[in-house]
Amino acid sequence: MKAFLEELVNQHRPSVGEGKLADYIPQLSEQDPTALGISVRTCDGEVYSAGDCPERFTMQSISKVITLILALMDRGGEAVFERVGMEPTGDPFNSIYKLEQAPGKPLNPMINAGALVVSSLIKGSTVEERVGRVLSLVRRMAENPKIELDHAVYYSERATGFRNRSMAYFLKEFGMIEDVEATLELYFQQCSIAINCDDLAQMGLCLARLGQNDAGEQVIPRELARLVKTFMVTCGMYNASGEFAILAGIPAKSGVSGGILASVPERMGIGVFGPALDEKGNSVGGVRLLKGLSRELNLSIF
Ligand code: GLU
Repeated sequence: MKAFLEELVNQHRPSVGEGKLADYIPQLSEQDPTALGISVRTCDGEVYSAGDCPERFTMQSISKVITLILALMDRGGEAVFERVGMEPTGDPFNSIYKLEQAPGKPLNPMINAGALVVSSLIKGSTVEERVGRVLSLVRRMAENPKIELDHAVYYSERATGFRNRSMAYFLKEFGMIEDVEATLELYFQQCSIAINCDDLAQMGLCLARLGQNDAGEQVIPRELARLVKTFMVTCGMYNASGEFAILAGIPAKSGVSGGILASVPERMGIGVFGPALDEKGNSVGGVRLLKGLSRELNLSIF
C-alpha cells in the first residue's frame, strides 16, 4: 500500500503544473504549488502516507463540515435547516447572486453563504469561546490536541474577505444572520485552523466509523456522521461534486488551501493536500490521487 501511494504521488505530481494557487487570500499564494501528499488511515488500524504529508495548511472550506456538525449538535436539525437548505448548487462556492432572491436562504451549508449561516448558529458567549469549541471538535476528531490556528492566514483573509462580508450583510437583511461581525470573525478563524494530511485522514476515519474515535468513544453522534457525509457527496467538491461522485464515488470536502478530507464508510479516512487548484477550486493533484486510489481499491460507495 505504501509503495502504491508513493507511485500514485509520483505519477500525479507533474499534473500540479496545470493548477494555480488561490491568491484572493494573499497568504495562500505563499504556499508551495508543487506540494502533493496523501495519508490513509483504515478502520483496521493501518496508517500509510506518501509525499508532502507533514506539511501544514489551513482547513478553509473543510471547516464547514465541522461547523455543520457543531451547529446541529447545538441547535438540532430543525433550527439549522430552517435557515440553510439541503440542495446542491451549480454555482461557485462564493457566489452571491442567488442571495438576492427572497427568501435569501442559502442552498446548502457547503457554500460560503450557507456556512456563514451555520457558523452564526454555533453557541458561545464570545467569539473566542465559539472558535474554541470548533477547534476542540477538530482536535477530538483528528485526535491531535496540538492543532492551532494559523494567524497569518486568518489576518490575511480578515483583511481581504470583502465578498464574504457582503454575503453576511445580505444574509442579515433577510434575517438569516443576527450578529454579522461576530459571525465573520468566527468564520475567518475556523477557515485558518492549520492541519496536515494525517489530521485529515484521522478526521475522515472518525466519520467512516460513524463518529467514533480510536478508543471507541462517540465523538459525534452517529446520525450526524452520516448526514455530513451525504452533504460531502452532494456538495463537498464545489460545483464539481457530480463529476467527482461519478469518477471517485467517495464523500469528500475540499478547501481552497488545497486540502481534501475524504471518508469511505466503514473502510478508511483519507487526507490529501496539493495547493495548486483547478478552475472550480479543487486541488488538481488531490482529485487525481483520490480518483486513482478509488479505482485501485474499489472505494466508490455507489
Ligand atoms: N476562507 C475561504 C473563503 O471563504 C474558504 C473557501 C474555500 O475553501 O472554499 O473564501
